[in-house]
Amino acid sequence: MSELSEPNTLAEVVRAQAEARGDEIVFEFEGRITTFAQFDAHTNQIAHALKASGVQPRERVAYLGKNSDIYFELLLGAIKANVVMAPVNWRLAGPEIAFIVEDCKAAILFVGPEFVDQVRGLKDQLPGVRHIITTEGGAPEWTDVAKWRDAQPKDDPQVQIDPADIAIQLYTSGTTGKPKGAMLSHANFLSLVRAGKDSTPEWNKWSTDDVSLVAMPVFHIGGSGWGVIGIYHGAKGVVAREFDPTKVLDFFEHAKITKLFMVPAAMQFVVRQPRAREIDFSRLKYMLYGASPIPAALLKECIEVFKCGFVQMYGMTETTGTIVALPPEDHVEGLERMRSAGKALPGVELAILDPDGNRLPPRQVGEIATRSGSNMVGYWNLPEATKRTIDGDNWLRTGDAGYMDEDGYLYIHDRIKDMIISGGENIYPAEVESAICDHPDVAEVAVVGVPDDQWGEAVKAVVVMKPGKEATSQDIISFTRSRIAGYKTPKSIDFIPALPRNASGKILRRNLRDPYWTGKDRQVN
Ligand code: ATP
Ligand code: MG
Repeated sequence: MSELSEPNTLAEVVRAQAEARGDEIVFEFEGRITTFAQFDAHTNQIAHALKASGVQPRERVAYLGKNSDIYFELLLGAIKANVVMAPVNWRLAGPEIAFIVEDCKAAILFVGPEFVDQVRGLKDQLPGVRHIITTEGGAPEWTDVAKWRDAQPKDDPQVQIDPADIAIQLYTSGTTGKPKGAMLSHANFLSLVRAGKDSTPEWNKWSTDDVSLVAMPVFHIGGSGWGVIGIYHGAKGVVAREFDPTKVLDFFEHAKITKLFMVPAAMQFVVRQPRAREIDFSRLKYMLYGASPIPAALLKECIEVFKCGFVQMYGMTETTGTIVALPPEDHVEGLERMRSAGKALPGVELAILDPDGNRLPPRQVGEIATRSGSNMVGYWNLPEATKRTIDGDNWLRTGDAGYMDEDGYLYIHDRIKDMIISGGENIYPAEVESAICDHPDVAEVAVVGVPDDQWGEAVKAVVVMKPGKEATSQDIISFTRSRIAGYKTPKSIDFIPALPRNASGKILRRNLRDPYWTGKDRQVN
């Protein structure tokens, strides 16, 4: 937004973009286009409608639905009323959904067409919800968003908003435990897009000609955050209702996507479509990826097929997304840096800490900590967890283990909670998984620590074989032993048909590990 005066809130971003490029497209969704001017008017109307429905500033509203242009109108409309949107992971089970909606005390629940029946069944578990509003109809007993919105004036609602106010409450992915509501402020978002404006790397520069694909779910920072960044830059966002690899290829062909963010599990589905090799990707400038480790073979395949710039991103919900990135010029095969997640973005500080909080020198593994303007305000309703995560000097403990090299490149090892301590040695599952994954017949693998009388914990690998392929435990163990140290080599192997994953495609190691620990205490590091 270089030509505009710098906005202090996301509400100002929308207004400024409507003034600068009112007739240009902000979102395209299933054939429907919305211009910046329409988006500004609709979000004003939604802010008025929230007020008219009795929702007070700083109250929460929740969204249970797949991706849509309406979601972004509701998010920015709520922002203009200083009301906080909490999008809910629709892949969760009924009671988990009810937990989040009640946890954030949502005054209104917005419901997408796919979830109308589910919400009918859950209604008794949602005593705090004052109104239910559908986003695409499907329930005659509830008002639909278009009617609710269109009854309101299009003028600016003139609500006082402070940069420190909460713009969105995003729940973490729930990989290591229950999802936590990370409160992200306007300042958090703006610090992210503004940091080091002048020193912004080439891949992070946007033009108003950019067409970005919003393919990751909006209940994650990779969906909501990505969409908001596009609005900030005045780019066009093509919104995919949900991730579908064949449709993603259609978008590349017909919508002329120039950049997108995907998680590695999604990239794998897209690149393995035979049609992927026939498509012309010359418009695609950058594929940004992250949120979980990427197998080297998958990255290589993607580089061959998509032929665009690749940027790895490391971050978390609590940091409003990316804080570290590996730029395209470091994606060179054979380079050690290819295994790294990259360097801190301008304006972001990184440190590696020992358990007492002391900084560690280069190449020593410890907990990754970060300080920047994009660190969340805190976890909703969890003051103790907030205190454990952000210290008095505003350093945020990521819960991830890793090290930095002399040039500031960050190498992520694993979640500290997943680290295995066997006979006093620290073992990071990702390293063992990567060794096993080199086996030509192995499709995927997860490594966990299981109780062991002699060693405290023993390494177990849970392996999924490629279709039609077989191996014995001994085959896998010998193969791994030839690549990594004996103490890191699994002592036992389980074969299963598929690994449990959450909606971000992250492997739920705790689901594999916990059954072995029933009735026993696992010392969490
Ligand atoms: P929860 O906090 O509820 O357990 P989560 O940590 O998976 O869930 P997110 O905030 O969506 O929720 O994910 C952030 C985490 O994802 C990081 O802490 C890190 O463990 C992992 N991660 C992010 N980017 C990368 C990356 N490039 N490589 C490896 N891991 C990554
Ligand atoms: Mg986390």
